Amino acid sequence: MSAGIVTVSYIGASILFILALGGLSNQETARRGNLYGMIGMTLALIATLVGIVTANYAVLIGGAVIGGFIGWVLAKKVEMTQMPELVAILHSLVGLAAVLVGYANFMDHSLAISGVEKTIHDVETYLGILIGALTFSGSIIAFLKLSAKISGKPLMLPARHWLNLGLLVLAVWFGNDFLNQSATGGGMVPLMLMTIVALLFGIHMVMAIGGADMPVVVSMLNSYSGWAAAATGFMLNNDLLIVVGALVGSSGAILSYIMCRAMNRKFLSVIAGGFGTTSGSSAASGPAGDVGDVVAVEAEEVANMLLDAKEVMIIPGYGMAVAQAQHTVFELTKQLRDKKVNVRFGIHPVAGRMPGHMNVLLAEAKVPYDIVFEMDEINEDFPKVDVSIVIGANDIVNPAAQEVPDSPIAGMPVLEPWKGKTTVVLKRGMATGYAGVDNPLFYKENTRMLFGDAKDSIDAVLKAVAG
Ligand code: NDP
Repeated sequence: MSAGIVTVSYIGASILFILALGGLSNQETARRGNLYGMIGMTLALIATLVGIVTANYAVLIGGAVIGGFIGWVLAKKVEMTQMPELVAILHSLVGLAAVLVGYANFMDHSLAISGVEKTIHDVETYLGILIGALTFSGSIIAFLKLSAKISGKPLMLPARHWLNLGLLVLAVWFGNDFLNQSATGGGMVPLMLMTIVALLFGIHMVMAIGGADMPVVVSMLNSYSGWAAAATGFMLNNDLLIVVGALVGSSGAILSYIMCRAMNRKFLSVIAGGFGTTSGSSAASGPAGDVGDVVAVEAEEVANMLLDAKEVMIIPGYGMAVAQAQHTVFELTKQLRDKKVNVRFGIHPVAGRMPGHMNVLLAEAKVPYDIVFEMDEINEDFPKVDVSIVIGANDIVNPAAQEVPDSPIAGMPVLEPWKGKTTVVLKRGMATGYAGVDNPLFYKENTRMLFGDAKDSIDAVLKAVAG
């Protein structure tokens, strides 16, 4: 294949990747966006295999088959609720690839370059390995935290900011050493020392970040993995890898920014860590209580409330995903709409465990898009709502974010069902949500608790509504 055809294929793939990102920004076009991404990646792989690779086909195709098979099995097996941890572990592989390519590139002496060109190449190699190593170790820690294999609580080492600063200074120091030694054919020792520093930095950075900030961290690591890929693209002189890396890097950074805004957090304070500790004063955590302090109801009562209502707001959260209640929820929605009740869905930007989690579940259950609203679109409608049904959501409807100034989630924008007539909360017990903060909503006068697995509860309400 001529170089020209490879270039044209790469430009085509880049355009498809941009269209994919555009498509993914809206649920109605998300499927198409995914399709563009898949076609773009196939085109990129074929152009690289046929047009750029010249040897070692057996290893390459063998690797692709094994990797593809593992990916296929993982994608088939993974539960929707495990997506963030899968994404985290996949980011770690991008980081590891950048490190390995960086070392291979550094040890490959067939590159006949010298002077400024060699210095630039060395800087690319150094940065690629640095970003790759911290993405690798940071993503592994994020995976372990998200899959609850280690505690989600932030690790607060004394003088941790000084430790971070010290690691940064060391990385710059070894960088200088590396450039000097590389000019005379050496450089392996400072490169390896920097790799250890970067691995430690990745571990320390993510260990210090608390539960409630993990969504931002996953998207931040997504961004880092993009920059690591872009650095690899520079090392390998591969334009497509540079473009794709920059796309992933910048879209991950924009998503981190959007999520920080949704949680009313500053990006720098997320990185500084420590948010989401459960060790607050009781005032900070809001009133703690047990089942005796709340008003519990039965499914039949909820059904009657819904049948008497004109305006119903459904607020799904992580528990709806765990219970896989989305299909039953839509059945109930259809029944109520047939009975002329106006049912809408209110979606918080960080509901569930990944961006867009609720939208994906509702789309899977075929809930029409025009009754699904973002938090900003419907929050001021709550005073007109007769019944809000909170299904397995907790942090995203926690009034402590507004009412308790020293709450760990103070300032996080939340949905405000308590401003409506009645709120019914469906959950199994009195457990806290992801941020580990008690929820004063459960104790409000106009709140009723329907205890049980969300799917069983909705099933029972549906039966009562239909009967
Ligand atoms: P929460 O984690 O705050 O609360 C979920 C609630 O669901 C729990 O209180 C639990 O209570 C209940 N629950 C669990 N299983 C069931 C079940 N089978 N049936 C009924 N209820 C159930 O979820 P939210 O969606 O309100 O908030 C999301 C949280 O996750 C935020 O803190 C967010 O920052 C964080 N996060 C978000 C990510 C994202 O990208 N969206 C990624 C990672 C974290 P009980 O055990 O008593 O039933």
